[in-house]
Amino acid sequence: MRVLLVEDDPMIGEAIQVALKDASYAADWVRSGLTALGALKGQHYDLVLLDLGLPGKDGLDVLRSLRAADNPVPLLIISARDGLDDRLQGLDGGADDYVLKPFQMAELLARMRAVLRRKSGHAAPVLGNGVVSLDPTTRQAQVRDEAPVQLSGREFALLQALLIRPGAILSRSELEDRIYGWGEEVESNAVEYLIHAIRRKLGADVIKNVRGVGWMVSKPV
Ligand code: CA
Repeated sequence: MRVLLVEDDPMIGEAIQVALKDASYAADWVRSGLTALGALKGQHYDLVLLDLGLPGKDGLDVLRSLRAADNPVPLLIISARDGLDDRLQGLDGGADDYVLKPFQMAELLARMRAVLRRKSGHAAPVLGNGVVSLDPTTRQAQVRDEAPVQLSGREFALLQALLIRPGAILSRSELEDRIYGWGEEVESNAVEYLIHAIRRKLGADVIKNVRGVGWMVSKPV
């Protein structure tokens, strides 16, 4: 999953970006409101983390512009502004959650998972299609009632991208988009390599290849 982090404080931004990558998100980091809006025009994001005090265009203005343009991207405000007014403006302005700084990274990641779950219409924290299930908190995958298997961060990110919409075919570039952020070098056969690794762990039939188009996991029956 690809996350846009909008944060002008270099230390906080760095810490959050590292934590996001450790948690297997593809994370792009921008430092101003205008850059954020530009990035959101050019790229699909699964979630936005938005600071409020930003140079130039304020975080609340960014939020307003996004929602006025009918962009439904899940968005969490991350701010040290703890006044009731700020929180109300943020939430009523279309944010899905409001996380007060300073926060523990584990809580931010849990709140992100909660928002993503609600937005995708999945009530259960574990994704699945009846054949394979995937737990976002542990990155363990399980095929039917076999023993759970640990996936690497990128194996997890790839399988998660497919399991969010079983039956939908994702192309190589769509998968790369969800696994790699800006500036991360993508080897030309990286997607095939990851799929090969997942199949070796979980069995060949877990991910289906649709020749010339991409890959999918089957719909639940
Ligand atoms: Ca700030």
